[in-house]
Amino acid sequence: MSTDVFSDALNRVKQIGESADVSPEIIEGLMHPKATMTASLPVRMDDGSTKHFTGYRCQYNNVLGPTKGGIRYHPDVSLEEVQALALWMTIKCAVVGLPYGGGKGGVIVDPKHLSPMELERLSRSYVRAMADFIGPQTDIPAPDVYTNARIMGWMADEYEAIKRVKAPGVITGKPVRLGGSLGRDDATGRGAYLCVLELAKKKGLNPAETTVAVQGFGNGGYHAVRLLQDAGYKVVAISDSQGGIYSDNGFDVNSIYQEKQRSRRVRAVYCEHSVCELVDHKSISNEELLELDVDILIPAALEGVITAKNAANIKAKYIVEVANGPIESDADPIIDEKGIVVIPDVLANAGGVTVSYFEWAQNRAGYAWTLEEVHQRLEHIMQKSFADVWELTESENRSMRDAAYTVAMRRIGQGIEAHGTRDYFNS
Ligand code: NAD
Repeated sequence: MSTDVFSDALNRVKQIGESADVSPEIIEGLMHPKATMTASLPVRMDDGSTKHFTGYRCQYNNVLGPTKGGIRYHPDVSLEEVQALALWMTIKCAVVGLPYGGGKGGVIVDPKHLSPMELERLSRSYVRAMADFIGPQTDIPAPDVYTNARIMGWMADEYEAIKRVKAPGVITGKPVRLGGSLGRDDATGRGAYLCVLELAKKKGLNPAETTVAVQGFGNGGYHAVRLLQDAGYKVVAISDSQGGIYSDNGFDVNSIYQEKQRSRRVRAVYCEHSVCELVDHKSISNEELLELDVDILIPAALEGVITAKNAANIKAKYIVEVANGPIESDADPIIDEKGIVVIPDVLANAGGVTVSYFEWAQNRAGYAWTLEEVHQRLEHIMQKSFADVWELTESENRSMRDAAYTVAMRRIGQGIEAHGTRDYFNS
C-alpha cells in the first residue's frame, strides 16, 4: 500500500460515499477527526528507572453520541492507526445503530516486555494523561489488542480516584465485579458468529461441510471459532503471532485454547481434562493461512494482512473480518471480482461495542442484566444490522462493505442534516 492506514480508511469513505450519492458535506465531515490527544506517559519501571511511553486518544466524530472505542497496546501503534481505528468505530457504531460516535486509543508498547506491575502503572499513567479528555458522557474507552478486563478495571479505578466519584460508565469491558457486563468477554466473537449464522441462512451453508480458518487466536478470534465449532463448523486452521497449524480433520478449539493459556503458543493438541496430546497437523505461516482453500476465512489479528499483492491468491468463499481493517482498500476490487463475500469489520466485529454499550447503559441506570438478556439483545441487534446491510446489498447490488458504509453514512448524514445543511440555510 502506498498510503498510510488512515489515508486508506479516508479513501474508502470517499469512494463508497461518492458511489452511494452521500452528500459531499457529509463525506467532508467524515474526513476530519474532531480531536486527537498525544501524551507522554511516564512509568516507573521495576528497576527504579522512569520510561516514557507515547499514548494517543482520538475522538473522531460525535454527531450520534459520545465517542466510543478501545485502547490498543502494541509496538506498531501510531497516530495514523489510532485515527483510522477511530474512523472505523464511527462507521461501526452507526451500522449497528448505537447512540455513539467513534473514538480509539493506543500506546506504543510491547506489553509482553512489561511486568504485571509495570503494566498496571502504564495503564494508570494513560488515564492520568487522558482524565480530562475521556468521560462517561464524552468519550468511553474499552479493550482492544493486548488490553483486557483487568486493565480496564485499573483504568476505571484511576479515573474514579482522580475525579473522586464512582464513574463505572467511563470505561467498558471491566471485570464483572467492577461493573462489567455479563457477556462482554465473548461479545466480539459472538457477534461475528451471529453474522455467520445469518450468512449461512442466505447462502444455504451446511455447517458440517463448511471449513473455517482463523488468523489470530485472541479474544475476538477464539470466541468466534469456539461458537462456530459448537454449531458444527469444522475449524481446520488457527494461528497467532508466532505462526499457525493446519489439519484436514479439524481441531478441537478448546484444547488449543487451553494449551495456549498454558504455553502462550498455538499448538496442535487434543486435551482430555489437563492431559494434552499432540495431534497430526501441518505447521503453516500466517501468510499461508490466508491463502488456504477453506470456506470461511476469519482474519482476527491486525489490519492490512490482505493487500493488492496477495488478494488474488485468496481461495476462501467468505471472509469474516473480526479484525479491524484486515483488507486494504486497493484489495477490495480484486476480492469482489473473485466473488468472495466479505462480512466487513464494521458489522462482523460490532458485537464487542454493542455489549460495551449494554455495559455503559447498565452502569448509568444501575441495572445488572442476566447473561440471557445480554445474549438476546445482542442477537436482536446483530440480526437486524445484518438484515439492514443485506437488504442494501441486494437492492443496490453492492458489496456488503459498501452497503454497511452506506447505511452508516446515511445515518450520520441524518444527524448532520438535523442541525441544518447548506440547502436548509440557503432556502
Ligand atoms: P487479542 O490481543 O485478544 O488477540 C490478538 C491475537 O492476534 C493474539 O492471538 C495474537 O497472538 C495474534 N496476533 C498478533 N499479531 C499477529 C500477527 N502478526 N499475525 C497473526 N496473529 C497475530 O486482541 P483482540 O481483542 O482479539 O483483537 C483482535 C482484532 O479484533 C483487532 O483487530 C481488534 O481491533 C479487533 N477487535 C477487537 C474487539 C474486542 O472487543 N476485543 C472488538 C472489535 C474488534
